[in-house]
Amino acid sequence: MTSSSDKTALVTGGNRGIGFAICQGLLEKGFHVILTARSSEKGQAAVAQLSTESNRVSFLQLDMNSDASIEKAAVQLGEDIPKLDVLVNNAGIYPDKGATILSVSRQLLIRTANTNSFGPVKLIQELLPLLEKANTPRIINVSSGNGQLDGLSTNVPSYSLSKLALNGITILMADALRSQGVAVFAMCPGWVRTDMGGQSAPRSPEQGADTAIWLATEGTLADSGKFFRDRQVQPF
Ligand code: NAP
Repeated sequence: MTSSSDKTALVTGGNRGIGFAICQGLLEKGFHVILTARSSEKGQAAVAQLSTESNRVSFLQLDMNSDASIEKAAVQLGEDIPKLDVLVNNAGIYPDKGATILSVSRQLLIRTANTNSFGPVKLIQELLPLLEKANTPRIINVSSGNGQLDGLSTNVPSYSLSKLALNGITILMADALRSQGVAVFAMCPGWVRTDMGGQSAPRSPEQGADTAIWLATEGTLADSGKFFRDRQVQPF
């Protein structure tokens, strides 16, 4: 059996919030962590913060809205690492700001889906050759209760629909990749104190990161295609 010390994980949107806490937690589990961010400056600053505790973290620029950025990162990773054990699609935006399903623009629907739903599809497609080389490859899609059928909110329409789509992508990818042994999970971190969640949220970023880290280390192929919160399977 391979221990976490032989494993490499890549996290999107790792420069702050839940993504940063996921990077920190995976480092504590012994993973080599590739912290990615769209801003090189912010990403490198986050890596510098983590490097004081561990030399097993590196930075890679990755903008989830850009196919060119994703393709460039995949080529670079193909040269740098022999396999990828874990991919965490964490990066996300929450831009509705007062829009409802009755007023949201097509442009905003597309922008949110581009980052939160279609970026993860493209990244999984590009990183698949590296994931398939791992013994127990796992993909974790950081979704939201707003993407559950009973959690959709008219007050965050583009966000809700983008996470509903991410849940659908999780189901489709799990089906498509089961025979290759690649497990794909969706999870909700709960309401978390980050720039996105705000300061009134009850959970710390570390609490929000817990289920993603648990899935990265213990998620099984039998549970592939399922949605989790607090380490428990939830209905979509
Ligand atoms: P956050 O503090 O706003 O951080 C979002 C992260 O995503 C940042 O690193 C941001 O980078 C990155 N990002 C945004 N667009 C990107 C792009 N095009 N390419 C690459 N990175 C991009 O949010 P968070 O609270 O940590 O949320 C993390 C995930 O948890 C999201 O998927 C969110 O939907 C989900 N979630 C959060 C909560 C909550 O209560 N906080 C609840 C449910 C689900 P920049 O710094 O460059 O902007």
